[in-house]
Amino acid sequence: MSGRSALGALLSLVLVLGAASPAAAGFDTVPDAVRWDVDYEAKTITVTVRLAFYMPTGAPFVDLVNQVTGEILRQWSGHRFKCFDFKVQIEARAVQSIDQVGEDEVDVRLDASKTYVRSAVWTTGSQEHTSDSPDDRRVPGRWDPEDANGRITNWWVYDQGAWAHEFGHVLGLQDNYVEETGGLKPGALYDTMYDAVFPVSPEMITRLVRRSGEVDESKVKCPMTVTAGPVDVITPLASIEGLYFHTYTCDYEPPTSDPARMPKPITFVGEGGYSGSYLGVRGTTGHDVKWTFRERLAPTQIVINRGAKLTAEFDWTPRFLLITRKGMLINGVDARTIFGVPLYAVTFDGAQECRG
Ligand SMILES: [Zn+2]
Repeated sequence: MSGRSALGALLSLVLVLGAASPAAAGFDTVPDAVRWDVDYEAKTITVTVRLAFYMPTGAPFVDLVNQVTGEILRQWSGHRFKCFDFKVQIEARAVQSIDQVGEDEVDVRLDASKTYVRSAVWTTGSQEHTSDSPDDRRVPGRWDPEDANGRITNWWVYDQGAWAHEFGHVLGLQDNYVEETGGLKPGALYDTMYDAVFPVSPEMITRLVRRSGEVDESKVKCPMTVTAGPVDVITPLASIEGLYFHTYTCDYEPPTSDPARMPKPITFVGEGGYSGSYLGVRGTTGHDVKWTFRERLAPTQIVINRGAKLTAEFDWTPRFLLITRKGMLINGVDARTIFGVPLYAVTFDGAQECRG
């Protein structure tokens, strides 16, 4: 698997010497390489990372740097923390050697060896891989040359799949895999911090934002609306005309892997109904609807009037909570619209009911 980093050796050193003074251990952190900016008006959280790349050959390699940063940005773009855009900016420089790397830059050696080289980022700090606490953020750095003994941040140029994972270490995340077995750590997800073949998860974004200590979550209020129909639906038993529901929440907690920060269930309220008749029961509109999302992919029930129960699975996407492609069941049976497509709900930001 690609995308492993060499944290184990550093951990043992930190445990022996204590975490008090990494500099004394010959390891200098570069905390200023990662900067955070929050704009509550524009609803954006921007993390800016300074990277200085060098190659041992001294050959021109600006195109390669652009390829690496482009791949990182491709995987780290389009994510959000609740309704705030999470933006990654990379200030990359191509330098001649590690000596030219600035105090506030993470050094990255681009290794063009013909045989496999494991990519790694050197960081220091906690091993709590699921924690959202700023105390558990890892900090990148580098070994003093006389102590380095080959321990340098080094990315293999043929391991494109590793770069987004290594960048996660630069930002302050731990691995999600067990070094010895390659298995998934307890409570972790199969996401980029397991292996970069998997996407960046919303839980990774929550962890980074909270670990930054720079975002006041009380100022990140995010209404969300989930709505469906009105639509005519055909089931094997009956047809339903004009089925709809319109529900909203005025705020919610983001998904996290931190057992100490498990989000409260999200309760949506609003109204729904249907017209015509269903199983001989005349439908009406304007009924109160209240439903609760508890966890990813768990069956969630949305009760419309007169016992019309919709069941659906919702999942966190990079944007928000979304019904899965399976669509909804009505009273336990597959429901299709008159066009033969599964019955979906639509999610969007905001809710008129929450203003003021
Ligand atoms: Zn790693």
